[in-house]
Amino acid sequence: MTDSYAVIGNPIGHTKSPLIHSTFARQTGQDIEYVAIEGRTGGFREDAETFRQAGGRGMNVTAPFKLDAFAYATDLSERAQMAGAVNALKFDGEHIHAENFDGIGLVRDIVHNLGCPMQGKRVLLLGAGGAARGALLPFLRQKPAQLLVVNRTLSKAQTLVEQFKDYAEGDFSCCSYPELGDVSERFDLVINATSASLRGELPPVHTGVFAPGCLAYELAYGKGLTPFLKLAQGAGAGWLADGVGMLVEQAAEAFEWWRGVRPETATVIKSLTVPLT
Ligand code: NDP
Repeated sequence: MTDSYAVIGNPIGHTKSPLIHSTFARQTGQDIEYVAIEGRTGGFREDAETFRQAGGRGMNVTAPFKLDAFAYATDLSERAQMAGAVNALKFDGEHIHAENFDGIGLVRDIVHNLGCPMQGKRVLLLGAGGAARGALLPFLRQKPAQLLVVNRTLSKAQTLVEQFKDYAEGDFSCCSYPELGDVSERFDLVINATSASLRGELPPVHTGVFAPGCLAYELAYGKGLTPFLKLAQGAGAGWLADGVGMLVEQAAEAFEWWRGVRPETATVIKSLTVPLT
């Protein structure tokens, strides 16, 4: 019997998830169908229930429903609990299991695909929204020497540092963008987890933060050389990457969680990569 999965979001027209999961299914010989559902604002629970009651086995959840999915779940993983947001659901009888694979997908892309270990490194994380929140626990588990979170609204970054501080072994702190001007360190890894690039904007970060040869990682994907990546390139970053690898890796985590088999990701990432020019 064919098992049904879906991604739910709004808007959803741009989603690559059906393509990614149908490729994984072909690769691994899994009999699944995977559709995109445009959820209604204020109607997430009803839309997810309709899919579940019709026999759906699981869902990926994207903006703006990650908090609604958190409230809808009956069984939250530690990662989902700590992130306060859910990006994957698994239906099992009356149980609605929930996970957040965004952060682990990001770490897997950085550490395994790009070959950039985070252990002992100085890491600068720009942004304190949903994606940054999901990344903090997986990041801290990599044991960076320093993790500095910078956000436009400083109070959000302060809340995150307070929430996650017990998981930190190295220096873990936050500051505002103006305060970042006084920070003399250069960072081995600079990650843009703001949504500025979606509007062609640059978070107000200065060129002095990029250590020579560092990795500059942009979570947005498919946008080529964003203002952030351009700044990093001009400042002497050694590698530039966008979030396509994170997207595919979080999908692979969900696929394995649902189906018990790990798909191969390298060819899928390659097929979806937009050159950073
Ligand atoms: P949120 O809306 O939850 O958070 C947005 C963050 O960006 C906030 O910290 C906000 O600051 C900050 N921000 C927005 N505009 C600016 C600006 N002009 N200058 C400085 N900071 C700014 O978004 P998400 O966390 O969900 O998404 C963040 C990015 O990650 C997006 O580009 C998204 O596409 C990408 N993403 C990629 C994924 C992937 O698989 N590759 C998965 C999930 C997200 P403030 O708090 O002050 O408002």
